Amino acid sequence: MHLSEILIHLGEERSAYFNAISPPVIQSSNFVFPDLPAFREAFTDEMANHVYTRGNNPTVQILRQKLAALEGTEDCLVFSSGSAAVAAAVISQVKAGDHIVCVKAPYSWTKILLSQFLPRFNVSHTFVDGRDTQAIERAMQPNTTVLYLESPNSLTFDLQDLEACARLAKARGITTIIDNSYATPLFQKPSGWGIDMVVHSGTKYLNGHSDVVVGVLCGSKKKIKEVFDSEYMTLGAILPPHDASLVIRGLRTLELRLNRSSGSALEIATWLEQQPQVERVLHPFLPSFDQYDLAKKQMSGCGGLFSAYFSASSKERMETFIHRLRRFLMAVSWGGHESLALPTIGFYDIPGRPDSSLPWNLVRFYIGLEDPQWLMEDLAQALKALD
Ligand SMILES: *Cc1c(COP(=O)(O)O)cnc(C)c1O
Repeated sequence: MHLSEILIHLGEERSAYFNAISPPVIQSSNFVFPDLPAFREAFTDEMANHVYTRGNNPTVQILRQKLAALEGTEDCLVFSSGSAAVAAAVISQVKAGDHIVCVKAPYSWTKILLSQFLPRFNVSHTFVDGRDTQAIERAMQPNTTVLYLESPNSLTFDLQDLEACARLAKARGITTIIDNSYATPLFQKPSGWGIDMVVHSGTKYLNGHSDVVVGVLCGSKKKIKEVFDSEYMTLGAILPPHDASLVIRGLRTLELRLNRSSGSALEIATWLEQQPQVERVLHPFLPSFDQYDLAKKQMSGCGGLFSAYFSASSKERMETFIHRLRRFLMAVSWGGHESLALPTIGFYDIPGRPDSSLPWNLVRFYIGLEDPQWLMEDLAQALKALD
């Protein structure tokens, strides 16, 4: 199906709501039945019919259809956060005694799910360097049921070879799950490489306006139904209908926003790499990137993120550089309209917390929708702090 059809029309049954162009927010917890046959019919499939909003809501259902089509999977569920989607996906594929192979630096709360939460239920894990397919294979055990990928990750952008990973896992009956938040389905379709389940923090690009926290889980009809009947309905981490309508609105401009961010980010990263105050820039589509060839093979674009190591003679100078940035906001997250800087030095000297294991001269940038020239002017003036 054409991307334009998905973003602008798919799932929208306008005749069901007064021919309104924009879908209404069906802000209702429950749905009424005219008689007993209708009541009984609804309960044959709580995921498809309208019974109760923890299960299915018409506004949320429109969003689910669009997201499944974007990922090229049969079905999709949306959650109240990306972390809820990650947790539901992983938990659905393990039982006590099972083992998970996971890339070594996944999103922070994914790491805590595997290293602190699941061990309470006797589910073990091995973290491996996902850039090394042989290391992934060596980590697989007879009781491994999940291979968890994040390609690229959102700080150093390490990739995994998705085709090779899917092949290794399939041969052993292992379920592959990928966090595809970085690339979005526009720039990378993991299901096309044979990956079973795709999760997103839709908080980032899919909503795209820094005003909703949302998670997405895509997969086959069978896998999604299993998650629905278990983790989704019992944990109840659902997306409210109003938030779903905001995400539907965000999707209208997904293609425009991503193309803008991704073009600007590559332009700025290319410029930054040439500045004398910069040691190294990490961006998968820069020819200097270690896994450039693999990035070009399995992604058609990169979005707005890149990271840079700066040559700063002291922590104080690094702090001055950060404080001089005016057109970048200092904040976590990414994928919205606004450009951001996330300095690792902010994870040093936090009372009651050990210092970050990352070097303090690293900054992760997110390029939003502003004029790239205007952003480069800001970087150029701030860089003078490092001269
Ligand atoms: C933000 C993020 C998450 C968590 O998503 P939330 O919507 O914040 O719960 C998971 N994975 C990646 C790569 C992220 O950037």
